[in-house]
Amino acid sequence: MRGILGVLFSLILVFVLSVTVFAQSENANIPERNGDYAVPGRSGLRVRVFVHEPKERPSSSVSVTCEDPHVNDVIGATGWKLPSGDWKYKINPSSVPSSVGSGNLTTITSNSFGKWVNAISSFSKPTLVPDGTTTKTRNALDFENIITWGRTQGSALGVTYVWYYTATNLVADVDTIMNKKFAWSLSCSSTSYNAENILIHELGHWFGLNDEYGASYVDNTMYGYGSRAEIKKITPEHGDKVGINLIYP
Ligand SMILES: [Zn+2]
Repeated sequence: MRGILGVLFSLILVFVLSVTVFAQSENANIPERNGDYAVPGRSGLRVRVFVHEPKERPSSSVSVTCEDPHVNDVIGATGWKLPSGDWKYKINPSSVPSSVGSGNLTTITSNSFGKWVNAISSFSKPTLVPDGTTTKTRNALDFENIITWGRTQGSALGVTYVWYYTATNLVADVDTIMNKKFAWSLSCSSTSYNAENILIHELGHWFGLNDEYGASYVDNTMYGYGSRAEIKKITPEHGDKVGINLIYP
């Protein structure tokens, strides 16, 4: 009897352990930290996470500059790119803070994509195609490329997740989540972040542009930090444009 109970107990233990391991691999959350990670169950894919942190503490005051100085430092490439041809994306208007206005998401998204695409002189470049709306507010490897406001784990202004095929270095799926816990606007103010200013930076990652944190990059669109009272990212600089042309030669 004791033997049977022992076997039964062992079987239950094995079952519980395997369910736990399975659940962990199913729910394996991608860390919200800058980095390049394996994708559980998908050996041909990796995912790159870009976390755009605010430069100043939430309580600190910032001086209002609202300038857009022009610089030439060339932005680095991540190593992967969007395929040439149509690349569909969905926006989530219902997620947009009222201080930005849900109706403005279409405009700031297409303006931002347009500036990047127009900067590419090659004919073999991606065409960004609006594909309606979504109500999703979280990243997922679901082959839907979304732009939304939502909750992020940490203190990032925005987080962009790029899944890419390691064999071809082409993007498989990309999602940008803007952090709803910050104050957003479309103005240049010491009390809010300009949504277009941060969004165009995040969309630069869709094309394969990297973050730059060096002091000489502070005025580039792909500078790795964002600030209140900042609009200088809205126009890609010469170095941002040279960078994207190196990715799409
Ligand atoms: Zn970034």
